[in-house]
Amino acid sequence: MIGVRTDSSGVAERLVLVRERIRAAEERFGREPGSVALLAVSKKHGTEKIRAAFAAGQRAFGESYAQEAVEKMDALGSLEAQWHFIGRIQSNKTRQIAERFDWVHSLCNLKHARRLSEQRPTTLPPLAACVQVNLDEETGKAGLAPAQIAEFIAACAGLPRLKLVGLMTLPAQAEDAEAQRRPFRALRLIRDRLASTVLPLRVLSMGMSADLEAAIAEGATMVRVGTAVFGSRH
Ligand SMILES: *Cc1c(COP(=O)(O)O)cnc(C)c1O
Repeated sequence: MIGVRTDSSGVAERLVLVRERIRAAEERFGREPGSVALLAVSKKHGTEKIRAAFAAGQRAFGESYAQEAVEKMDALGSLEAQWHFIGRIQSNKTRQIAERFDWVHSLCNLKHARRLSEQRPTTLPPLAACVQVNLDEETGKAGLAPAQIAEFIAACAGLPRLKLVGLMTLPAQAEDAEAQRRPFRALRLIRDRLASTVLPLRVLSMGMSADLEAAIAEGATMVRVGTAVFGSRH
């Protein structure tokens, strides 16, 4: 619906509510105001909603499927958005990710890390990357086990076009606040243990529509919010 200027999608209103949730959680949990960034997860939503969010001031967008994302980027043309890849990385999609995205949150495979670094165009800054950590110890789920992270980070250190900035996790849904906080706390403690002056790992990418408050309580610096910003996915 190119040319439509009014936002009938409700995205602008929902963005206001999500920003208010983040602000309230920062205050409640003693976090510095403005220390938690909002990544608007636009997977499975159309470009008109992305435009509406952009018009309402949102700049960082998260996508899970490389092909879908690149098609939307092309349709959006010159929109000065920042793109974050948050989905499962497939070997045949690393070039699209390296060339078209600013960040990747779901790095957990050394072969992919090497390819992303090799394929990152020299005209762009190094690709910012978070290592995905699987805290549920569910096999088949994406992410490295906590015990594998130190070695993985050391192996990535020599990759010139990749910049490790932090850790990401996607825990199983939990109902009560304490159960929600447990994996987020675990991720923060892993980060605190591994961070160094050479590699501060400042970013904790954790928290979604249903549990962003719990993530902020435990130190999230970026929450990845889809449904609460864009509505339900079909
Ligand atoms: C879809 C997705 C989100 C957003 O989830 P909502 O519950 O819609 O907020 C966040 N992170 C990842 C990795 C996702 O795939």
